[in-house]
Amino acid sequence: RHEQHAGYAASIAGYLTQKPGICLTVSAPGFLNGLTALAHATTNCFPMILISGSSEREIVDLQQGDYEEMDQLAVAKPVCKAAFRVLHAQDIGIGIARAIRAAVSGRPGGVYLDLPAKLFAQTMDATSGKRSLVKVIDAAPRQLPAPESITRALDLLKSAKKPLIILGKGAAYAQADADIRAFVEKSGIPYLPMSMAKGLLPDTHPQSASAARSMVLKEADVVMLIGARLNWLLSHGKGKAWGTEPKKFIQVDIEPKEMDSNVEILAPVVGDIGSCVAAFNAAMGGWQAAPADWMKTVTTKRDENVAKMAPRLMNNNSPMDYHGALGVLKNIVKERPDAILVNEGANTLDLARGIIDVYKPRKRIDVGTWGIMGIGMGFSVAAAVETGHQVLAVEGDSAFGFSGMEVETICRYHLPVCIVILNNNGVYKGTDVNPTGGTDVAPTVFVKDARYEKMMEAFGGVGVYASTPDQLRAGIEQAFASRRPTLINAIIDETAG
Ligand code: ADP
Repeated sequence: RHEQHAGYAASIAGYLTQKPGICLTVSAPGFLNGLTALAHATTNCFPMILISGSSEREIVDLQQGDYEEMDQLAVAKPVCKAAFRVLHAQDIGIGIARAIRAAVSGRPGGVYLDLPAKLFAQTMDATSGKRSLVKVIDAAPRQLPAPESITRALDLLKSAKKPLIILGKGAAYAQADADIRAFVEKSGIPYLPMSMAKGLLPDTHPQSASAARSMVLKEADVVMLIGARLNWLLSHGKGKAWGTEPKKFIQVDIEPKEMDSNVEILAPVVGDIGSCVAAFNAAMGGWQAAPADWMKTVTTKRDENVAKMAPRLMNNNSPMDYHGALGVLKNIVKERPDAILVNEGANTLDLARGIIDVYKPRKRIDVGTWGIMGIGMGFSVAAAVETGHQVLAVEGDSAFGFSGMEVETICRYHLPVCIVILNNNGVYKGTDVNPTGGTDVAPTVFVKDARYEKMMEAFGGVGVYASTPDQLRAGIEQAFASRRPTLINAIIDETAG
């Protein structure tokens, strides 16, 4: 229903399949709506192609006021990996081939393809048309790491007393799941998954340090990043979050310019993650597992934190608090690990990320590098279409508002999407008071007791009102069994933050 969500769908389709998702839009306003998603794809390293119609070049360049006039190529350039324009029908094949290669090779990203109106009226005979098309051979060629970079990295890792591996969504994208798991297990090193890398190894894996995150970041001495950047999500690799212990970094990434972006990288390994991890595995003969006392410290801390959280997740309060509701969702995903979890919100995002374990690769898709809101329904549509699996979208009530109209799309195509809105009547909380003292509600407060489930009913889907954990569980179970589009309005105590 809106180009931004079509674009988000295309971007995450690219992430899930390694093939560029393609989003088509009309000119200027449609193009601009799609542009947010194109920028998002580029920032997150997802392959995507935005193809937009545009008005006549001659009129745009003289600024003579064409219908939806805009110099779209110039506008797109700063937010995408590459931008191309096709002016002649015989160049369509080359234009598409360039767009595909630019999107998926090296560090993946968003590509813009500009098709001015004049192109659409052109004709050419079928035989030369066919001949002008390009079969894109090996669009994302393997990039083998230099052997000396592998040795350097393993030597550093071996020297560590408190090593740590951080897996990012680049590692999940690479689809080298078995090799990554073999590497982590052979190394015996605790690992932290970034949010979309959760499930590369099951979150319940004995080496997972997720529930001891703060501690391992502070105490580790050698940190190996695999497909994760030292951006804000990792406090740029420095400062309080990283403690006082001096860190030595190993970084595995396809993009050489990523090295030293925030701190010195002592052992850069440049190549595609599949090839790099395979090279590590091949070079690890006679590997001594990581120091046992370090692993023990990590697991003790982790198990303590997990045990502390457990009773809160089993509460049966009505209205629910976040922990009661998320405890239900945690169990649902545990029982049905093939479901794809989509997650956005504020409290809903932060708490669900920590509480809901993921068991298989690429089963959690979320707000990504920018921490944006609005990806929910577009991602849900793409995940359902691309994988055929049940989708569980866990949404804050605020986050859902950015893409809510796409429930019609979900119903139109009968997609197996179950949306759970954790509804606490506002942003962060539903109890804020207007600071200016006027009669309007506070800017963070929404219409109270909104019946979001009726939006789904309006289009023929199933709406559920759930004020207890039991009702929430029953609603999700029914949605999964029927595979019908379902929206569960999960009522959260508005004072819960
Ligand atoms: P996260 O947000 O999970 O920490 P980031 O998006 O910051 O992850 O990092 C992903 C990194 O993975 C990017 O630097 C990107 O260049 C890299 N990357 C993506 N695909 C591959 C690949 N196939 N091989 C190697 N590196 C990759």
